[in-house]
Formats: sequence, structure tokens, C-alpha cells
Amino acid sequence: MANEALASYPELGARLQQVQEGIAEACKQASRDAGDVTLIVVTKFHPASLVAALAELGVRDVGENRHQEAQAKAEELAQLDLNWHFIGQLQTKKARQAARYAHAIHSIDRERLVDALADPESERTIDAFVQINLTDDPGRGGVAPDGIEALAEKVLATPSLRLRGVMSVAPLEEPAAAAFERLAGYSDRVRALDASASAISAGMTHDYVEAIAAGATHLRIGSAITGNRPEHR
Ligand SMILES: *Cc1c(COP(=O)(O)O)cnc(C)c1O
Repeated sequence: MANEALASYPELGARLQQVQEGIAEACKQASRDAGDVTLIVVTKFHPASLVAALAELGVRDVGENRHQEAQAKAEELAQLDLNWHFIGQLQTKKARQAARYAHAIHSIDRERLVDALADPESERTIDAFVQINLTDDPGRGGVAPDGIEALAEKVLATPSLRLRGVMSVAPLEEPAAAAFERLAGYSDRVRALDASASAISAGMTHDYVEAIAAGATHLRIGSAITGNRPEHR
């Protein structure tokens, strides 16, 4: 059983280690404790066997952005007891199903989604991140900054959700550092509502160093670790 899946991914361990070292170095540069930063390995489009290989390497937190794919992998790998982080656009009608396997949902972008996720019968609480749109384009994911408080309050009023903080994807149009600085300000606004909601989910393969410098607590890193994603199906 040992190292069964890992044998199929000979470069995975080295790439994971490289990123872990990069995170440690960025934390040092920012005078931050690396223990305050959670690495979520984004495994979207990759098969469940790659997730199993990551688990053999000690990874506990994995990220997925499509419900059906995430659900299938979480079911197949249920015995590994991983923390599944949902990081993509979530349809209201799929919310209840996602709530069954998700440890955290990083893409809470509207009040209707909070209503759909609310499960008074659930004995589990799901970690909730309010996704904020850092662009002026309403077509991008996330709540506009003027809607942050209302959405965060809605999460706080929902017993089956635990408000952890904010989440964002840096826009392509501007330097990541500037965008993440704004995100840190939005994080302050959420923390003013609930001091424990201090998490910042930000930082991907190409901008995690800037995210760490701006205070990110949850990194969502995919291709630097998994290699290039297979083609969109
Ligand atoms: C795919 C994805 C990531 C990871 O992206 P990489 O550039 O592969 O590190 C992070 N966050 C979200 C929301 C994603 O969809």
C-alpha cells in the first residue's frame, strides 16, 4: 500500500518541496511565522491518484474548483480524511451537496449562496471565506467591496458556517502586491465585524510571495506543484 500512488508521479515530491521552501523563504523575508500559513494544493483537472500521491507526501489540504469533480474525488478518497477546499464558482443549487464534503468554501460571493449553504441540521461547521472582487468588472468572481460587510454579516448569522476571512484572486491588470494590499484592507473590515475572521486566502503559483508579504494565511497553489493541468474537459 505504501507509496502506491506516488510511484506514478516521480517529480511531485521535489516540486512540493520546492514550493514549501519558497513559502518558508517568503515568510522569512516578511518576518512571518511559516506556521501561520496553510498551503492548499490545488488539484483541479488532475486525477484522484495525484491527490492520493500528495497525501502520501503529507499534504492534508487540497483545493478544487468544480463541484462534480470535487465530489467524485472526495468520495473516492474519503478514507484519506483530507480537508477539501472548494475554491471555484459554486452554483446555488449545488451548494448543499458541496457542503457535505467541503471542509472550507473560499468562494462565498453572494447572500443567496449563504442561504443555500445554511443547514440547520448539520453537525459540522464549514469554514467560510468571503470572496472579494479586486477589479471593477462585475463579471469577475467575488463580491464588490461595498458589499463585504453585508455578506460577512450574513455568514456570521449562519450557524453551519464559520467565517474565517476573505479570499481573492489577483487581477491580471495590475501588480499583485498592490491588489493584495487592498485585500489586506478589506480583511481589516471583516475583522472589525469578528476578530476571529482574520484569515486571508490569497496567492497562487505566480504570486504567492507577494501574497505572503501582504499577510496571506491560506495559499492556493496548483501548477507549481502538480505540473501543468491536463486540458479542460
Ligand atoms: C486554479 C486556481 C488556483 C491555483 O492556480 P495555480 O496558478 O495553478 O497555482 C488558485 N485559486 C483559484 C481560485 C484557482 O481557480
